[in-house]
Amino acid sequence: MKKKLGLLYGGKSAEHKVSMQTAMAVIKALDTDKYDIHPIYIFESGEWVRGPQLMGPVENVKELAFNSQEQIGSNALSTTLFQANDEASLDVIFPLLHGPNGEDGTVQGLLELLNLPYVGNGVLASSAGMDKVIMKNIFEVAGLNQVKYNSFIRSDWQSDKEAAYDCVEKELGFPCFVKPANLGSSVGISKCTTREELETAFIEAFQFDRKIIVEEGLTAREIEVGVLGNDYPEVSVAGEIVPKKDFYDYKAKYEDGDTALIIPAEVTESEYAAIKADAIKAFKALDCSGLVRADFFLTKEGKVYINEVNTMPGFTPFSMFPLLWKHTGLEYDALINKLVDLAVERHTEKQ
Ligand code: ATP
Ligand code: MG
Ligand code: MG
Ligand code: MG
Repeated sequence: MKKKLGLLYGGKSAEHKVSMQTAMAVIKALDTDKYDIHPIYIFESGEWVRGPQLMGPVENVKELAFNSQEQIGSNALSTTLFQANDEASLDVIFPLLHGPNGEDGTVQGLLELLNLPYVGNGVLASSAGMDKVIMKNIFEVAGLNQVKYNSFIRSDWQSDKEAAYDCVEKELGFPCFVKPANLGSSVGISKCTTREELETAFIEAFQFDRKIIVEEGLTAREIEVGVLGNDYPEVSVAGEIVPKKDFYDYKAKYEDGDTALIIPAEVTESEYAAIKADAIKAFKALDCSGLVRADFFLTKEGKVYINEVNTMPGFTPFSMFPLLWKHTGLEYDALINKLVDLAVERHTEKQ
């Protein structure tokens, strides 16, 4: 029998647009002999709508969703969206959401309460993975190698800005990276080489979050791997990102399109072994399930630093995570099937 798959996308997040692109790609790739697709779109304002008319193309979805709100009579967090024991009940949910209010455990918590299987990480891994400060604290305890970092709360910074900048200069130096604690797609991230840039970067990052992280800036290659599984996670081949610009910022990710993704990355066997071991360690430290993309830095001397994990990485057929698995032997549609199977497996084991 066909599985009723609810595809959640959009979202109340600065990564809304990225999620929409991903969702349209997944809808196209889903095997309609296996799945009955039920798109559920979340506006940037947080309202939810559901209906078959929301399958794209991406430019039309917002308008269609807007016009159909009354028709399907749903907004806000109505459990009727998922209601059990009626015709519209769903078998499994694929939350294709990036960033806060989607990748951060909030939606995962709702799905737990509704007792629905869903693709990807649970509440804890999602929320800990979304907050770069908490994530790094956990990685530290797990003994993972990472750059030096510091975090700041908006209210502390507002009461003594100079002290915050002094602290960064003294403890981290330049270059450094300033990031909102809870976000992705490089939104709100700046690289700073001077005090003036640092000041601008703080203002920028605090527009997106009340907490920010500042990291020592490394000169290193960027290597990423995909992790897939529940209790027995597997790691993909490694891929390298070579941005044409100073760093892999939002434009380089989604607009310029001239960032090279090299798969498999040219790394030595021992470098790959170290990255693979750290990716598994990170996956287990955050108690992940389903999938993550683990992002690393690799220095000329062969030293490996973990940068972060993404609990719902970019997922178009041209995104790093699916490409890594393609090169490892798992095509896009097979990858989606595998993720749905892992979701059901985890849900069944919990019962
Ligand atoms: P995403 O979730 O899309 O992967 P993100 O918003 O979580 O991105 P990061 O991956 O932390 O952001 O950083 C974005 C990019 O900034 C990195 O890919 C890298 O190019 C650069 N970068 C971040 N931190 C550092 C650092 N400490 N040293 C050198 N480069 C860095
Ligand atoms: Mg990230
Ligand atoms: Mg991300
Ligand atoms: Mg990253």
